[in-house]
Amino acid sequence: MSPVFYVETKGELARMMPTAECCMIAELSAIARSSGRVEMRQNGDEPGPVFEISTENAAVARKIMAFVRSIYQVKPKVRFTRRRGGLPGNQYIVELPGDDGALQVLQDIGVVSQRGGSTSMRNGVPWEVLPRQCCFRCYLRGIFLARGYVQNPEKEYHMEFMTDSAVHARGIVRLAESFSVVPKISRRKKGHMVYVKGGDDVAQLLRVMGAHSAVLTLESVRVIRGVRGDVNRVVNCETANLTKAVDAGLIQVAAIRTIDEFIGLKSLPPGLQEIAGLRLTNPEVTLRELGQMLSPPISKSAVNHRMRRIVDMASRLDDNMG
Ligand SMILES: [Zn+2]
Repeated sequence: MSPVFYVETKGELARMMPTAECCMIAELSAIARSSGRVEMRQNGDEPGPVFEISTENAAVARKIMAFVRSIYQVKPKVRFTRRRGGLPGNQYIVELPGDDGALQVLQDIGVVSQRGGSTSMRNGVPWEVLPRQCCFRCYLRGIFLARGYVQNPEKEYHMEFMTDSAVHARGIVRLAESFSVVPKISRRKKGHMVYVKGGDDVAQLLRVMGAHSAVLTLESVRVIRGVRGDVNRVVNCETANLTKAVDAGLIQVAAIRTIDEFIGLKSLPPGLQEIAGLRLTNPEVTLRELGQMLSPPISKSAVNHRMRRIVDMASRLDDNMG
């Protein structure tokens, strides 16, 4: 029951900082909605209700603070306690700034609504704070960081997002649908679970949220699982080479998908476009074999050269779009 894949995925997503303000607001909104609550201030300047967001993950706490600092130019208060129930680690609690200000912040980021003098938690996804598709990604990432889970792909392909509201659950489904994934909803004791099963869907949602290392891990588990049947029929000493070729192929496939998603494969020069298309349909073959599939065929080192350009381009895109 190793949670390593989940912990690493969460860490990767927690460290990822969006640069656009629309995206920061979207992600903060999702986290605040899922992990926030109103508490009475016990000590401090003025007693009264404050909005607190709690997380057991230090990187997520840093992220919440960075969002608040960057969007509102104020430094939020943070404190930490031991986790309850004797669990290891700390619970970090970030307090939203301001007195009535906190309410304004919550309204700005679509967590609460005020009608006729009364304030209530918003039920669904606050679409008005998600003006662009970049914000959809960040909102999903926020929900995942607060109440998401992904199973180790060696066991099972499963990713879930928990929420307390059925309307919100349907909103999360719509967000995923905008990236061509159709999750299911299941009623649970602790709320509503939006989930996907199947390697393609889990990989796509990881990619959408920006967990590129997790995608690579998942894809290599998948292909190695997939080719294992074939490999077993081959002489054993070939396994190591095959696995190596498969790993390299997967890194290239992930790079090609990144390029396709951000700028489209059509924007590549013809030579790169051709090899990218071939690699997508043949993730497991060697560079030499790939070269021989072209007409006229090209050498292994020429294929290698083109692949390097593709992988470089994808990592530059990831850096810019992160
Ligand atoms: Zn955005």
